[in-house]
Amino acid sequence: MVTSSDILPTEIAPTSAVAAESAASPAKVNLLGLPETKLVAFFESLGEKRFRAVQVMKWIHQLGADNFDAMTNVSKELRRKLQEVAEIRPPEVVKQLDSADGTRKFLIRVSGGNVIETVYIPEGDRGTLCVSSQVGCSLDCSFCATGKQGFNRDLTAAEIIGQVWIAAKSFNQLQPNAERSITNVVLMGMGEPLLNFDNVVDAMNLMMHDNCYGISKRRVTLSTSGVVPALDRLSQYTDACLAISLHAPNDELRNELVPINRKYPIAMLLDSAKRYIEAMPDTHRKITIEYTLIDQVNDRPHHAHELAELLRDVPVKINLIPFNPFNLSNYKRVSNNALRRFQDILMEAGYITTVRTTRGDDIDAACGQLAGAVNDITKRSERYRARFDEAQPVKIIAQ
Ligand code: SAH
Ligand code: SF4
Repeated sequence: MVTSSDILPTEIAPTSAVAAESAASPAKVNLLGLPETKLVAFFESLGEKRFRAVQVMKWIHQLGADNFDAMTNVSKELRRKLQEVAEIRPPEVVKQLDSADGTRKFLIRVSGGNVIETVYIPEGDRGTLCVSSQVGCSLDCSFCATGKQGFNRDLTAAEIIGQVWIAAKSFNQLQPNAERSITNVVLMGMGEPLLNFDNVVDAMNLMMHDNCYGISKRRVTLSTSGVVPALDRLSQYTDACLAISLHAPNDELRNELVPINRKYPIAMLLDSAKRYIEAMPDTHRKITIEYTLIDQVNDRPHHAHELAELLRDVPVKINLIPFNPFNLSNYKRVSNNALRRFQDILMEAGYITTVRTTRGDDIDAACGQLAGAVNDITKRSERYRARFDEAQPVKIIAQ
C-alpha cells in the first residue's frame, strides 16, 4: 500500500520561455506546435530556405531548446529575425508528482489559467506518456472524472506536443545516461482528441517525425469515444494506432455510459473504425477496444458473451480497464472475480484480452482521474456540443 509520504511533489522552476510568457507578444508565432509543412511555410515566408525548418525542428524537439540563442548552426542574423517574429513557448509545469511505482504526473498550466494533466507510466522497457487533448471534455461519459468537469477549450498543437516536450526534457531523454524515455504516446488523457482534430493531427505528426521524437506509428495511439465524422477523415491525415472506447456491448447500455453513442451508434462506429484500419498500409493492424468495467453495470458474463459476438468480424484486441472510482460518481470498481470471469470469456472466444493495471494511484494518475482544475462546467459543454449538432463537425486544414 502506498502512503502519501511516498509522493514526492517537485516544484518546477518555469522554463525561460514560460517566464517570458507574460511579456510575449501575441503576434509572435509559436514554433513549438508547427509540423514540418507549416514550419517550412513559415521559413519561406521569411525568405529563408526550407532546410532551416529542419534545423529548428531538431533544436526544439530533439535538443529541447526554448530560445533561439542556443541555435549555434543558425546565423546570428536569422536568430535575430526569429526573435522578433517567433517564439518557442511550452506551457508551464506547475508541479511534478512522482509515484512510488515510477509513474510521474505533470500538472501543466495552459494559457487562460487552466491546469491539465499528463502522465508518464514506465513498464519494463516501455515508457508510455498519456497526453491530454482538451481542457476538460464536452462528452460527459457517465464514468469519467474529466467529463464531469465539463469542457473549457481545445488545447493548441503547441500545448499538446508541449506535454511530450516537457516530459522528454524532464528525463533528459537525449542524454546517453537518460534514466527513462518515452517509447509510446497515448491520447488518453483529458479530452476527446477527435473534437480537436487539426491540433491533434499536427501534434501527432510531430511525435512521429524522425527529426522530432521519432516515435513509431505503432506506438502512438489515438483513443476516441466515437466521433464518427472525424474518424472517417482520420486516415487521410495520420496512420497512428486507434483505440475505441466502447464500454458496452449494445446501444441501450452504451447510450447510458457514452452519450455520444445516441448520435453515432455502435454499428456506425465499428464500421468507421474498420475502414480506418483497412486504409493502413500494414495489414496486420488491430483496433484496441477499451472497455471500462463497472461493478454490476457492464461486467456480467452475458455482457462478455455479447461483446464477443459483436466484435466477431472486427480485427481487435481488447483492453479491460477496471473502473477507477472518483468523488462525483456512485459507480464501483469491478470485483476481481468478475474481472477474471469477463477476461476468460473473451479469451475463450479467441480475443487477445489484457487488463490495464492501475498505476500511480497515490498521485491520482489513473485513468479517469485526470481531472485537473477546469473552470467552466456545464454551459460551455452545451455550446460546444451544439456546434457539433449543427452539421460541421470538424474543421480540417489540408496539409
Ligand atoms: N476521450 C477519449 C480519450 C480520453 S479517455 C476516449 O474517451 O477514448 C481515455 C480512457 O479512459 C477511455 O477509454 C475512458 O473510457 C477511460 N476512463 C475514463 N474514466 C475512467 C474511469 N473512471 N475509470 C477507468 N477508465 C476510465
Ligand atoms: Fe470525454 Fe473520453 Fe471522458 Fe468520455 S471518457 S467524457 S470522451 S474524456
